[in-house]
Order: sequence, then C-alpha cells, then structure tokens
Amino acid sequence: MLLQGKKALITGGSGGIGAALVRAFVHHGAKVVFTYHQSGSAADELVSELGKSAVLSIRCDGSQSEQVTACMTEAIAFLGGLDILVNNAGITKDTLLLRMSEEDWDMVLDTNLKSSFLFCKQALRHMMRTGGSIINIGSVVGLTGNAGQANYAASKAGLVGFSKSIAREMGSKNIRCNVLAPGFIDTAMTSKLPENMLQQQLQSIPAKRIGQAQEVADVAVFLASDMASYINGQVISVCGGLNT
Ligand code: NDP
Repeated sequence: MLLQGKKALITGGSGGIGAALVRAFVHHGAKVVFTYHQSGSAADELVSELGKSAVLSIRCDGSQSEQVTACMTEAIAFLGGLDILVNNAGITKDTLLLRMSEEDWDMVLDTNLKSSFLFCKQALRHMMRTGGSIINIGSVVGLTGNAGQANYAASKAGLVGFSKSIAREMGSKNIRCNVLAPGFIDTAMTSKLPENMLQQQLQSIPAKRIGQAQEVADVAVFLASDMASYINGQVISVCGGLNT
C-alpha cells in the first residue's frame, strides 16, 4: 500500500496504460479521479469494478482549457485535495512528415503536450502547500525520434523539457515532476500495427517481447510514492531495454 491516503488524478484512464494506472493506484490505497474522452462505457466499467467510493470518472478533452478547469474543480471536490497528477492521455496520428497535415500536427501536440501544460498549471495551485508528485507519460520515441511519428515524437520530447522545468521551478515546494517513458506496450495504440511491423519492432527490443501496461503502472506507483522522494526531473524508461 505505497499510496495509502493519497489523492490522484490520472488522465486517459479509459485506455490501456491508463486503466492499469487507475487499478494499480487504487490497489495501493489511493483515491483516484480519472478522465476519459470518447470511451464512456470503458470508463463506467472501470468505476463499477473498483467502486464509486474510491474512483470517479470525468469526461474531459484535455486540449480544451475550460474543460480542464471544470474537470479539476470536480476532481478536487471528490478527492479533497491533490497529491498526484499523471498526464497519461495521448494519441498518435502517424504518417511521414512530407504527408503530415497541419491538423494532424496540431491535434497530437494539443492532446499530448498542451493538455499536460493545462493540467499541470491547475494541479500546481493545489500542490503548492502540500507538495506532490507529477508524472508525465512520455515515450522512448521522444528520446530517439521515429520515422512516421514526427508529431508524436515532438510532443513527447516536449514533455521532457517541460517536466524538467517544473522540477526546477517547484522542487523547493516539495513538488516532484518526472517523465515515465514507455517503450512498446500492448494496448489499443499498438494493436493497430501490422503483424510484420510488430515482429520487426520486437526484434529490436532486448527483452524480445512487448511490455504490459501493468509493468508501466508498477513504476508509476513507485514514482508517485514517498519511496521516490528524491527523484525529480528525471526520465525513467520502461522499455525492455529498447532505449539502451
Ligand atoms: P490508448 O489508446 O489505449 O489510450 C489513450 C487514452 O488517451 C484514452 O484513455 C483516451 O480516451 C485518452 N485520450 C485520447 N484523446 C484524448 C483527449 N483529447 N482528451 C482526453 N483524453 C484523451 O493508449 P495507451 O494506453 O497505449 O497510451 C497511454 C499513454 O502512453 C499515451 O500518452 C501514449 O502516448 C503513451 N505511450 C504508449 C505506448 C504504447 O506502446 N502503448 C508507448 C509509449 C508511450 P478515450 O479512449 O476515452 O477517448
């Protein structure tokens, strides 16, 4: 029970990694609010599974500042404060740069990077007096780049500089901000890949297997907990050795 009594907000809890985060945080004793965007029924199922006293789901498009403000107000009313923020919601719109539309660029940057700015800004107000832990879910692609993912890689690389800046600005207030960078994880995001590309990806991973959402969630629990009290401004890869 590493998160006993902690109050956490997790974005994108209706997705693969997000649902694993919500389950792991609740199992470790946290009270959790999570957001979803389109997947209302997945969100409802997760709340039924974990119980309405421990979990609340809120529909929120994280790229829209009014929705983020309203979401934070509702979240604080349910939680009674905020100790942990996990910016996990994210999308891909993959194509080669020469074919990439401005719309696809904006949508990925707004969903993956701007939403983290909006949520962090709101969260810091609540963490100023109590301290807290912010985890931004990046990607190894944000550290290495990837053909066909210029928009996605830029958004995840942006999260690194953003998070390190928060760490420097807020460290003296006992607020930590780290990036958790998954490699290749088995979720809806990766299930779209054709089989031959999947096999090619697996060959480049020293572990020779795809990662599970639970393996990302376990590290997030640690980073959110007081056991990680001296870890700030870091990028932690969970990638089976891919980023080595
Ligand atoms: P999923 O596609 O399974 O889940 C994505 C989540 O983001 C969903 O909950 C979705 O909500 C939410 N979301 C999408 N758009 C918005 C929006 N505009 N506003 C609010 N929420 C939104 O992906 P994963 O679980 O795989 O990914 C989670 C995070 O992990 C992402 O940031 C991703 O970039 C990162 N990551 C994933 C890797 C992988 O291999 N899977 C590797 C590296 C990083 P809804 O479904 O309700 O619309």
